[in-house]
Amino acid sequence: MSPDRQPPEKMMFQLSLRRRGISEQRVLRAMDAIPREAFVEPADRDNAWRDTALGIACGQTISQPFVVAYMTERLELRDDHRVLEIGTGSGYQAAILSRLSRQVVTIERFRTLADRARARLKQQHCDNVEVLLGDGFDVPADAGQFDRIMVTAAMEQIPDALTHRLEPDGLLIAPVGPHNGRQTLVLVRQTAGGPVRKELVDVRFVPALPGIAREL
Ligand code: SAH
Repeated sequence: MSPDRQPPEKMMFQLSLRRRGISEQRVLRAMDAIPREAFVEPADRDNAWRDTALGIACGQTISQPFVVAYMTERLELRDDHRVLEIGTGSGYQAAILSRLSRQVVTIERFRTLADRARARLKQQHCDNVEVLLGDGFDVPADAGQFDRIMVTAAMEQIPDALTHRLEPDGLLIAPVGPHNGRQTLVLVRQTAGGPVRKELVDVRFVPALPGIAREL
């Protein structure tokens, strides 16, 4: 679709991302290419292009688009990167990551969410994404090492086991903080001298919980 034929709400979506400081063209293009309405609940389709988080199944949320774009931009993704996402949710963030990297492995603890996200990602031809039902606090060893890790559920602290999964010079971004208190996005770079940590902005995410969910 040419820019002048885009629905107005989609043009506003891009404009508001730019206004709020997202400047990397690759990220803006990925946000433009992936239809967020395909990842929200059917009743929320009309709200899909608004810059807000929305409820999805299993009491979870699809993040606010600005936060998706911001976290993606901070990961400095390259086409040859292998990426791990913890907290598949709707699959939207994984779809964005898939446009900017070689391979995405995404882990979700609710079977319903993992199954639905897998179907949506297939429908959107995101063929380089693998959705695993599992626990992001216990990433299977055979999943290997990653150039980039994005956590999209709030962790009280970043487990060492997770930073150990980063390749040299790898980056990890995660919301860190108590479930009902102040959470801050933290960026960790794996350097020769060990992990270097930087605090970015305050955010609000659903909590990361241990283990596979017993309910569907
Ligand atoms: N990235 C998602 C939104 C994430 S909401 C999207 O684009 O829609 C956070 C998700 O993390 C929820 O679906 C929740 O079930 C999941 N989650 C929480 N703890 C987890 C854990 N230990 N392992 C895997 N997934 C987890």
